[in-house]
Amino acid sequence: KTFEAFKLNRQLLNAIAEVPYDEPTPIQQKAIPTILNGHDVIGIAQTGTGKTAAFVLPILMKAKYAQGHDPRVLILAPTRELVLQIEENIKLFATYTDLRYTSLFGGIGPKSQIEALQGGLDIVISTPGRFLDLYSRGEITIKMLKTMVLDEADKMMDMGFMPQIRRILEVIPTKRQNLLFSATMSPRVEELSHEFLEFPEKIEI
Ligand code: AMP
Repeated sequence: KTFEAFKLNRQLLNAIAEVPYDEPTPIQQKAIPTILNGHDVIGIAQTGTGKTAAFVLPILMKAKYAQGHDPRVLILAPTRELVLQIEENIKLFATYTDLRYTSLFGGIGPKSQIEALQGGLDIVISTPGRFLDLYSRGEITIKMLKTMVLDEADKMMDMGFMPQIRRILEVIPTKRQNLLFSATMSPRVEELSHEFLEFPEKIEI
C-alpha cells in the first residue's frame, strides 16, 4: 500500500513524496484511515514507528487550510523536545498548505508564544503546563478546538501531568475528536483512555 491510497490531498502527497517516504509504516497504515474517518483512536506505538506522521498527516488533511483566528487542533506532549519534534513533522508536511501552527513550552518567556497566538493559528502543540499557564492568562481561546491529541500519554502520567491534563479536558469543548498515543498500555493509560476517548478504535502494532 502507498500513501496515494489514503484520502490525502495533493499538497500533502507532494510533501510526503519529497521527504521522501516511500510507503506508510504499519501504524500509519492503520491510523491514517481511522483518524480520517473521524474515530477516536488509542494508538499503542513506540517512538521510531512513525507514530508522529500517523496522526499529523490526517490532522493536516482535516484542518485543510488556514481558517479563523482560534486554534482548531491541540496536541499535548510531555516535553519541549517532543513538542518541537512534532512541530518539525508538521512543518515538513504542511509545506504546501497555508496552515498556521506554533509550539508552546516552559523554560522560556511567554512573549513570543503569546505573539504567535495573537497572530492567529490553526494548530497548537504544547506541554500541558505552559498550555494551562497561557490559557489562565486568557491568551488562548479554546472554543474552536475540534481535535485533541495526547502524545506519549504514559510518559505524561509518569511525569505527573495528570492533574493538568484533567483540567484541560474539563475546559475544552466536548464535541471533538480525540487521539491518544502511548508506548505502553498500562492500567493508568487504560483509565485515561476511558475518561478521554469515546468509542475508540484501538490500534496496536
Ligand atoms: P516517529 O516514530 O514518529 O518518532 O518517527 C520515527 C522516524 O521515522 C522519523 O525520523 C520519521 O521521519 C521516520 N518515518 C516516519 N514515517 C516514515 C515512513 N513512512 N517511511 C520512512 N520513514 C518514516
